[in-house]
Amino acid sequence: MNTLREYRQLFILSLKGLALELCDICGMKPAKYECRLCGRKVCEEDYDHEKKLCKVCSSALCEICGKNLSIGYCMVCGRSGCEDCLIQVSTVSYVCKECIRKGRYRLARKTVS
Ligand SMILES: [Zn+2]
Ligand SMILES: [Zn+2]
Ligand SMILES: [Zn+2]
Ligand SMILES: [Zn+2]
Repeated sequence: MNTLREYRQLFILSLKGLALELCDICGMKPAKYECRLCGRKVCEEDYDHEKKLCKVCSSALCEICGKNLSIGYCMVCGRSGCEDCLIQVSTVSYVCKECIRKGRYRLARKTVS
C-alpha cells in the first residue's frame, strides 16, 4: 500500500537523484529493510522477513536458539551455535549444550549444571 508519506519520500528521493540508498549486500537494489543485528540496509531479496535479518546474519545465526550470531559448530551434531549454546571443549572445538545434556558428549573437565 502506498501512503501519502511514501509518495512524498519517493518524490524527495527522486529529487535527490542518487541519494537513494542501495543494498549493503548486493549494491544493486534499493535498500528497503534494516537488519536488526548488524544494522545493514538491505533490499528485499537479501532480507529474511521471518527472522528480520539480512541474508548474511540469517545464515550466520545460531541454529539452536536462533537469537545470536553463531561462533562455531558443535563437533557432535554439527549445528552452528552461539556463545550461549556452545561450550568450548578445547581450543578449537565446541559442543552444544543439547548434546551434552543428552549425553552425546562427556565433558572431561568442566561440569554442566
Ligand atoms: Zn540486495
Ligand atoms: Zn545483518
Ligand atoms: Zn544460540
Ligand atoms: Zn550438538
